Amino acid sequence: MKVRDRYPPSPTGLQHIGSVRTALFNYLFARSGNQDGKFILRLEDTDRARFDESYVQNIYDTFSWLGIKWDEGPDCGGPFGPYIQSERTDLYKKYAQALIDSGRAYYCFCTPQRIEEVRLAREAEHSSETGYDRLCRGIDPQEAVKRAQNGEACTVRLKIPLGETTRFHDHILGDIEWKNDDVNPDPVLLKSDGFPTYHLANVVDDHLMEVTHVLRAQEWVSSTPLHVIMYRAFGWTPPEYCHLPMVMGQDGKKLSKRHGATSIDEFRRQGYLPEALLNYVALLGASYEEGRELYSLAELAQRFSLEKLNKAPAVFDYKKLEWYNGQYIRMKSDEELASLALPFAINADLFNGEPAEEQRRIFTEAMPLIKERLVFLSEVPAKIAYLFKEPETPAAEEFIPKKSSLAQTREFLRHGLELVRALAAIPDDEQAEIFVKAHAEKSQVKLGDLMMPLRVAVTGSRVSPPLFGSLRLLGAERSAQRVQRALEALGE
Ligand code: GLU
Repeated sequence: MKVRDRYPPSPTGLQHIGSVRTALFNYLFARSGNQDGKFILRLEDTDRARFDESYVQNIYDTFSWLGIKWDEGPDCGGPFGPYIQSERTDLYKKYAQALIDSGRAYYCFCTPQRIEEVRLAREAEHSSETGYDRLCRGIDPQEAVKRAQNGEACTVRLKIPLGETTRFHDHILGDIEWKNDDVNPDPVLLKSDGFPTYHLANVVDDHLMEVTHVLRAQEWVSSTPLHVIMYRAFGWTPPEYCHLPMVMGQDGKKLSKRHGATSIDEFRRQGYLPEALLNYVALLGASYEEGRELYSLAELAQRFSLEKLNKAPAVFDYKKLEWYNGQYIRMKSDEELASLALPFAINADLFNGEPAEEQRRIFTEAMPLIKERLVFLSEVPAKIAYLFKEPETPAAEEFIPKKSSLAQTREFLRHGLELVRALAAIPDDEQAEIFVKAHAEKSQVKLGDLMMPLRVAVTGSRVSPPLFGSLRLLGAERSAQRVQRALEALGE
């Protein structure tokens, strides 16, 4: 059997870690082993009240950034389209009608007010009953049809067969059974505005799109008995189910904004690389090779199988994700890293607009100076701003090495000025260091006492990327100017 699986987001919110995990597992499953399966994107946009077009765009943007492609979907088409539920409403009406005709669904004329009254009355009685009280289930079907045809507002509800048990198998959770009497009582399939509910549209589409496997978050498992009842009512075979373990924060609560960034947009803005995010998310609730942590998308697809999914909830560890990001940053060439970081630098106005060719060159050559310790792309502009903008001259005490005086510091900087000019002839950073060490020795100045004020003068800070690389990129003239300015600030 060829796998056909799907990612069916509702465009009612931004794509977040949980949504990407679901999509990614479906993607990997369709591509795993020799399955040559198909991965489908379907937009479940039937909740018109919460729908927003920007969320549709967010779905496309997120997955194009991550490099996850579907085989069938609204943008690329496919043999089972349309892949947008709001364009399929006639189909849902037809299938709801079929259930009415076979006596497995019924018209309900209860108004929202009545439903609310029932709820309030139960609350007053401290009743444990929830959901619809099945009032309209007792209406004679012929009379109901007449009322509906006369234009009385109505919904269509599923007639859950009472007194029976519904069983299904889940790849992770095993055999599950539910007493039908405990399933959401006769849920609405078709709303009074003619739009389907999630349950109807989801089941009809999974069937018509020949979906073989449903991999979705565990929060949906309570809907599955209902879906299985619907498959039986239609006379269809349900797909195989696999409900993915929840993603938790480190406090054991469902991952949410309280824990930190969750929307993919935020991670992107913080300067995460898609590879890092995908790699980490792929390991949320799945284990591959012992002790191995880095996998490309293709390697994950080769290894993915439902057997490798864990039953226990996955814990999302922001620190671990940061580690992954650092790893993937270090795998980039200087040119790649520069082009990834460039938008952040432009955004931070490092170049006063678009970078000139020379600025671009310096930017790229600065990458090896910061790559080793970089965690986020968004850190790049602040780390190397001094290469493009004149840093503010720090307060005098910042320049003064421990146990030194202001006068000594000026002396160190005068050496610095001489060195900066001499280094113009030494383009190799290691050679430059050897040269400066020799100079310190000859002049009987401690190397640190030479370097520290020089660093502050040139970069504007005591902590900076390597000094010799910085001097090289700035060039002798600009470096000397900065040292001169520092000397003036120190009263020279
Ligand atoms: N539209 C549902 C969602 O937003 C799909 C759930 C399912 O996979 O059945 O997640």
